[in-house]
Amino acid sequence: MKLKSVSLHWQILIGLILGVLLAVVSRIFQFESFVIEDVALLGDVFIRALKMIIVPLIVSSIISGVTNLSDAEHFGRLSLKTISYYVMTSILAILTGLILVNLIAPGIGANLSFQEMPEGLETSVQSFSDLLIRIIPENPLAAMARGEILPTIFFSLLFGFFITRAPEPYKTQLTGFFQAVFEVMMGLTHFIILFAPVGVFALIAKVIAQTGFDAVLPLFKYMVTVILGLLIHATVTLPLLVYFLGGISPLKHFKAMSAALMTAFSTSSSSATLPLTMDSIENNAGVSNKVSSFVLPLGATINMDGTALYECVAAMFIAQVYGIELSFGQQMIVVMTALLASIGAAGIPMAGLVMITIILKAVGLPLEGIGMILAVDRILDMLRTSVNVWSDSCGAVLIARSEGEDKLRVLKSGRA
Ligand code: ASP
Repeated sequence: MKLKSVSLHWQILIGLILGVLLAVVSRIFQFESFVIEDVALLGDVFIRALKMIIVPLIVSSIISGVTNLSDAEHFGRLSLKTISYYVMTSILAILTGLILVNLIAPGIGANLSFQEMPEGLETSVQSFSDLLIRIIPENPLAAMARGEILPTIFFSLLFGFFITRAPEPYKTQLTGFFQAVFEVMMGLTHFIILFAPVGVFALIAKVIAQTGFDAVLPLFKYMVTVILGLLIHATVTLPLLVYFLGGISPLKHFKAMSAALMTAFSTSSSSATLPLTMDSIENNAGVSNKVSSFVLPLGATINMDGTALYECVAAMFIAQVYGIELSFGQQMIVVMTALLASIGAAGIPMAGLVMITIILKAVGLPLEGIGMILAVDRILDMLRTSVNVWSDSCGAVLIARSEGEDKLRVLKSGRA
């Protein structure tokens, strides 16, 4: 079992490298269209297969996880810890971005061309209160059918909770039933994950064949700022937290999560990566389903440290390019709205870009500014999505530790 998972992440890495090579060669010899149209099909198949399992996996995992919690108090404690971790790490990420963007000032004196704004950008953003209300599904089956994750989580949590309140024999029957469905879903997930190397290969080849590296130069300083911030958050802040608060070895944990992280990188979607995140955290890191089934699906939708950091840097960058100086108070508004935007962003590609409109509106910056950063968004999206998934996984091990789980395979004292 363990050998198999080790070889899988190497396989994915090889897929990633081959994908980049194919894209570069296709651009040199001008057969990009073959990569973008034909090879890409393999990536689409992989993404569709992942999407296929997201809803049944979330539902069965949450319900079986909640039925394992002993009581309502336990449930409340777990929620509080999870939300506190999410908010705290997102704010840390945003502050890292804010400091860097002020120090590096990538937008000052930048000479940039605009790209057309994607259509319907503004209208696709909902207000925050709207977002909160929509957590309650009017029709849970419709929400599941549309793949809306937060309402699905909300309903599953309640359903699971009331199973624990149901009279016997229903309680035992339903608990057993959802446990069984979850086992089956995990088996299916495992099977789909076997195709990750091919999927990752095709996805990365398509992105690079399509975007190339030409767009990068004028936005180089901006990209460096975002990437540096993401690196600091992922390799310093979060590792320090897991090491000191949870006694976790960041390196072991990174190894345990590597298949999920590479998938996040190539799919740019926390939601599509969720099956791999859950599989890695349970089978490689050794976190219980009780904790992971609650922390991870929620994290994939609302905990986005990478996105939060990026939102802040991008908005500040746009202000700098326009020569608009933001006061301390306004920068604090940027921090708060970046947090809300990251919570509100869906775990899908480019969601973060769309959410920047919230921040721009809040501090009165021109929405057209988004057109400037569009060209390099995909590359940054890949990186921030990996950081988003990394933070979710760090949250899962930390919360597992705080729940007294002492058999994790990623402990600094234990054997890998
Ligand atoms: N693609 C990111 C994610 O799925 C969200 C974003 O665009 O920032 O986590």
